[in-house]
Amino acid sequence: MPSIPEPSMETLALLGGVPLVKEPPAPYRSMGVAERDAVLKVMDSDCISGFYGSPGDKFLGGKMVREFEDAWCERIGSKFAVSVNSATSGLIAAVGAAGAGPGDEVIVPPYTMSATVVAPLFYGAIPVFADIEEETFCLDPAAVQKAITPRTKIIIAVNLFGHPAQLAALRKIADDAGLILIEDSAQAPLGSEGGRKCGTVGHMGVFSLNYHKHIHTGEGGIVTTDNPELAKRLQLIRNHGENVVESWNMDDITNLVGLNFRMSEISAAIGIEQLKNIDVHVTRREDIANKLSDAVSGLKGLTAPVVRTGCRHNYYCWTMRYDEDLLGVKRSTFSQALTAEGFPHGAGYVRPLYRLPLFQQRKAIGGDGWPFSLGDYRYDDVACPVTERMYNKEVILFEPCVFDLDAEGAEVMGDAIIKVHRNLAALREWEKIQSHD
Ligand SMILES: *Cc1c(COP(=O)(O)O)cnc(C)c1O
Repeated sequence: MPSIPEPSMETLALLGGVPLVKEPPAPYRSMGVAERDAVLKVMDSDCISGFYGSPGDKFLGGKMVREFEDAWCERIGSKFAVSVNSATSGLIAAVGAAGAGPGDEVIVPPYTMSATVVAPLFYGAIPVFADIEEETFCLDPAAVQKAITPRTKIIIAVNLFGHPAQLAALRKIADDAGLILIEDSAQAPLGSEGGRKCGTVGHMGVFSLNYHKHIHTGEGGIVTTDNPELAKRLQLIRNHGENVVESWNMDDITNLVGLNFRMSEISAAIGIEQLKNIDVHVTRREDIANKLSDAVSGLKGLTAPVVRTGCRHNYYCWTMRYDEDLLGVKRSTFSQALTAEGFPHGAGYVRPLYRLPLFQQRKAIGGDGWPFSLGDYRYDDVACPVTERMYNKEVILFEPCVFDLDAEGAEVMGDAIIKVHRNLAALREWEKIQSHD
């Protein structure tokens, strides 16, 4: 093994030196022989999907789908698992199953993937934004408490980047106020709080199996719940429920106008194999993240991701916080220097979602204006200062999920951060010159 040169001895690549990361990291491939064999078996069976959208035996899907759902319950620890064709579908199904209707308010964080916050719109419900905590970037229970009104029906907490939100606290708030807590656990399989896995503390948990997540089926999702009534409603929304409510003798048929959110047998067969290896897929991301956190620990002005006591962080993203005042260099400059060193990363994560045109212009579904009464709710004066600060100034993130890095590869990435940090004085000079140009 060639030893890595002492980072401080090198000129920054941004200033004409040699990039520390010689080769862009290869993408992570999680598909193996087992997945391929499982797919071929399904092909040979000639049953590519086992679903029918009418009452009867096939309403709940084929053999692989049911097997996958059972395995998911077993591994994640929920009573029911309802597979769907994406987490986006899963969120829509969960909001519908919770009984949201026109004018109902759904409390959401603004710092997440957009699917979290648009799901309520399909039922005419109103997303209400509450701020996040600076340590974990997840919903702040105090902000949630403040956002509750007589019209609030649902809280959607996101276990962002793989770290649990304050799930027990949020569940208590929900229970005390008679609300439903949905966990968006798309990024958090095997994440946990106090020994309880993400996706099992809320009334429902939604997981993603898209290509970028820890384990995947190309596209896909799963909704977990312990409540048989919610499970039934999820199954109906997944598969043309309007055809089935009569034969199931349902009284409350609200929101059971079904869709086609069904998972194919091929996807389920892949999912079964991926789930068998979930520990491998998750721990390798944790290993990469721990290397990066080691690199950053002790560097003034950079804060490694915090793991709250009793929690497991699965590091869908490894997210450090940048202190511009302490470092005396703009985050954008530091980020440019990291890019030049070959460290692939993002600055800021997503723009706070209330700034999306659909919220600012109050135009979503149903043409001009809102489909149903939005009351006086406006999005131009949403106050989420922590989210704004994370987006504008503090967050720098790396996606362990995307890359195939061994221990040495992860160490080189960490060294790239160290190298840039040791050259802050040179960066300050460079910034000055840039601003004179
Ligand atoms: C990926 C993701 C989704 C959407 O997942 P799909 O399966 O692509 O629909 C929703 N929420 C969060 C937080 C995500 O990261």
